Amino acid sequence: MSMEDYDFLFKIVLIGNAGVGKTCLVRRFTQGLFPPGQGATIGVDFMIKTVEIKGEKIKLQIWDTAGQERFRSITQSYYRSANALILTYDITCEESFRCLPEWLREIEQYANSEVITVLVGNKIDLAERREVSQQRAEEFAGTQNMYYLETSAKESDNVEKLFLDLACRLISEA
Ligand code: GDP
Ligand code: MG
Repeated sequence: MSMEDYDFLFKIVLIGNAGVGKTCLVRRFTQGLFPPGQGATIGVDFMIKTVEIKGEKIKLQIWDTAGQERFRSITQSYYRSANALILTYDITCEESFRCLPEWLREIEQYANSEVITVLVGNKIDLAERREVSQQRAEEFAGTQNMYYLETSAKESDNVEKLFLDLACRLISEA
């Protein structure tokens, strides 16, 4: 029997402005929790979750920025060897959407050219405060060849789908 308890291992890295909900998305997916109040930043570099798709065990190593989201302060080492990037913005925060081109420049500069990038609009439970329409985000994602998904870490909306769809795409391109 193999020593390894998985068939595939992928590294997924979350990026995007501070406050958009990256840590909450990771916590929701890996622990099933939505942390109340402040202090959502976890004190580790990555979390692990193993999922099973079509009989294959896929180990996901999910990296979250520990409060270092400012451009250029995330070093190349963070992007290095990422198989997928989850570029997150907050649908109630226009500013987080307007920063996306800067994040794409970082990706261009630091990530490997094979990387799969998913654009995520988080906090859809706050629909009444929406500042970025789904159509606008879809159009932007389309111009960049990114897959687009809207989520709520709070309500657990589309969070599982986000990571499982990504795992499926990673296997199909592995
Ligand atoms: P990060 O800086 O990108 O890691 O963002 P955090 O995960 O720390 O979340 C920032 C704030 O947004 C916290 O107050 C969270 O409670 C809140 N938040 C995160 N995700 C959601 C969501 O889906 N819905 C709502 N309403 N709030 C969220
Ligand atoms: Mg965080």
